[in-house]
Amino acid sequence: SLEQGPEGPETPIQVVLRVRPMSAAELRRGEQSAVHCSGTRTLQVSPPGGGPDVAFRFGAVLDGARTQEDVFRASGVRRLGELALRGFSCTVFTFGQTGSGKTYTLTGPPPQGEGVPVPPSLAGIMQRTFAWLLDRVQHLGAPVTLHASYLEIYNEQVLDLLSLGSPRPLPVRWNKTRGFYAEQLRVVEFGSLGALMELLQMGLSRRRSSAHTLNQASSRSHALLTLHIRRQTAQQMPPGGLGEHPAGGKLCFVDLAGSEKVAATGSRGELMLEANSINRSLLALGHCISLLLDSRRKQSHIPFRDSKLTKLLADSLGGRGVTLMVACVSPSAQCLPETLSTLRYASRAQ
Ligand code: ADP
Ligand code: MG
Repeated sequence: SLEQGPEGPETPIQVVLRVRPMSAAELRRGEQSAVHCSGTRTLQVSPPGGGPDVAFRFGAVLDGARTQEDVFRASGVRRLGELALRGFSCTVFTFGQTGSGKTYTLTGPPPQGEGVPVPPSLAGIMQRTFAWLLDRVQHLGAPVTLHASYLEIYNEQVLDLLSLGSPRPLPVRWNKTRGFYAEQLRVVEFGSLGALMELLQMGLSRRRSSAHTLNQASSRSHALLTLHIRRQTAQQMPPGGLGEHPAGGKLCFVDLAGSEKVAATGSRGELMLEANSINRSLLALGHCISLLLDSRRKQSHIPFRDSKLTKLLADSLGGRGVTLMVACVSPSAQCLPETLSTLRYASRAQ
């Protein structure tokens, strides 16, 4: 059922697919839908020029009629939240071409004006997870410290979306206790849902007004909001087994750069990406996922160091992490080449 979401920690990456509704512009141009859901886990694609439909299966498939709440429930993100509370590093990322609904899925539609909040019914996975997490922490009884950071990667430069002054590029470093981290990134402690929502709003409005957004290149940046969750006493940890980690758990939300011009090739277990205009981080992510999926190479070297994004996601992609990918596509036949590329990438990642 939709409620259940994807199962099992055995699969390194859980994948759900969201098809957004036809946009007003697509409808005005008379574009046809080239995809339809069959059941809750299969997407049927009608190839251009006829021929039999091609089917893609995912942990869940959500069509344009699904609400933000449906997506939150079906994506199983609360399970990642539970794991993060137990000390795992968990990541939710949206993948798809520009305009496919990645940002909408994570944070809802853009605000109707400065300071106008997103209506609760349209809030995305992030706001819903925040509310769920704060509620969960309150009911746990054990003291939990929560911190948030929010950064953007553009042209392989890390910029702090919460910085107090004007943001300048931060170096990414590594040490034994922390793993990879962005040096001097502002990490803000918060104690309430309201305070966390304010941090989100600050980052979102910075993202919207940054220089490269005004240059129409925002689709080439990645935005990472990370929640750091730390129990104050180890004894009060719920039974969690191997996942417990003294450094605490992490829940990271990643709004990836648009995947257009990045084509997925290769067969299952050897997902490869080729790009005309290379987004180094997106390519490196595909490469790392591909190596991680190949069980024969489990012990082999995973090139997390190839990009800023893969460095910052290394602990969640490798080792002690769980990753959820929400692949986003447009239903329009006009977008079919990019949609097929997204579907291939997503089905090979699971
Ligand atoms: P992306 O981040 O992938 O570039 P956006 O999230 O900005 O795409 O979505 C593109 C446009 O479509 C936006 O105007 C957004 O509000 C709208 N949109 C996306 N998904 C949905 C949806 N499920 N329902 C209604 N509108 C949507
Ligand atoms: Mg976006």
